[in-house]
Amino acid sequence: MMTLELSAKIARIPDYPAAARYGRAEQIAMLASNESPYPPIPEVREAIERAISGINRYPDPRSSALRSKLSERCGVQEGRIAIGNGSCDILLAAGEALLEPGAEVIYAWPSFSVYPHLAAASGARAIAVPTDEEDRHDLEAMAEEITVATRLVLICNPNNPTSTALPLAQIAGFLQQVPYEVCVILDEAYCEYNLLDDPDASIELLEEHPNLVLLRTFSKAYGLCGLRVGYALCGSEDLPRAVDKVRQPFFCNAIAEAAATEALNHQDVVAERVTATIAERISVDERLRALGLQPADSQANFCWFELAGPISGGRAERSEQELAQAGRREAATVEGLAGRGILVRAGTSLGRPGALRVTYGTREEDELFLDALASLL
Ligand SMILES: *Cc1c(COP(=O)(O)O)cnc(C)c1O
Repeated sequence: MMTLELSAKIARIPDYPAAARYGRAEQIAMLASNESPYPPIPEVREAIERAISGINRYPDPRSSALRSKLSERCGVQEGRIAIGNGSCDILLAAGEALLEPGAEVIYAWPSFSVYPHLAAASGARAIAVPTDEEDRHDLEAMAEEITVATRLVLICNPNNPTSTALPLAQIAGFLQQVPYEVCVILDEAYCEYNLLDDPDASIELLEEHPNLVLLRTFSKAYGLCGLRVGYALCGSEDLPRAVDKVRQPFFCNAIAEAAATEALNHQDVVAERVTATIAERISVDERLRALGLQPADSQANFCWFELAGPISGGRAERSEQELAQAGRREAATVEGLAGRGILVRAGTSLGRPGALRVTYGTREEDELFLDALASLL
């Protein structure tokens, strides 16, 4: 029973769909959260060890070491880089800094499960634009939703949970249609896995678009999600200043900063691991197709597919009954996989009943998943 009198927004804010069964001992393949299957390299462990000896002191509130290394690597001035306790920290702070009742935020759906939180927390209006039949952002439809009330547009590229990406040229074309005072956050959590464009090509767009923010993270390709550190490369200093105003002063802990700074010295390892994941992507998707499934064209470290295969008449045509049936099939499959120690993400919690989102793991994990899925189908 609720006894506290909470602010109205608490009823509006959705719960984050946490992966099921965290903390159970018998998990053998954790494929539900798009994590890296690879442990930290020795150099990162050593940097963490060194940072431990200083944790009686507060961390550097400017995260200067990390910011300076990112600036050097990306060619973006330090004042235009925001650091966060994970990139979600920057995302939520951006929502707080940009949105209020009467304002509007536009994003695709299905997309990252944190986005609905921004409108709910601020009282702004959320405009969720359905992805197209190929599970990609429909940028034309999104552009049509821009009004004088629009403060923020979110583009997730590659998109979580649908795994698809848009060519950067299309995003550049979209940016031309956005008024200069409207912030566009391009969430590039998975950019390292995207083969459509050079992952750093988007940085060039910052020069032409001061309203653009590239949101990136050490949680995925860099394999540091347990430490929580992300960053934003921005077209101007406005957003870094604004998010620093709405957050507590020490948003990046000393150990996370040290690990991320060191990880940037090992791009060869990142590249090797990304290549291994892309090899898994090719072979898992091939096996899924052999099972009669149609995975979306993944440019990320996870696949996305509907258990029922292609839907005649298109997705919009599905009846309540078909949706309920798809949801039951999905729940039974997720449960069956979990019973074999394989954790995947159910589409219902991500906005698409009947779909599964499965992270590419190691060869062994992926084999276990595919064999289990084949036996369940
Ligand atoms: C995983 C993910 C992030 C990263 O979140 P962190 O807070 O940096 O761990 C951001 N955006 C999307 C779309 C993601 O899937």
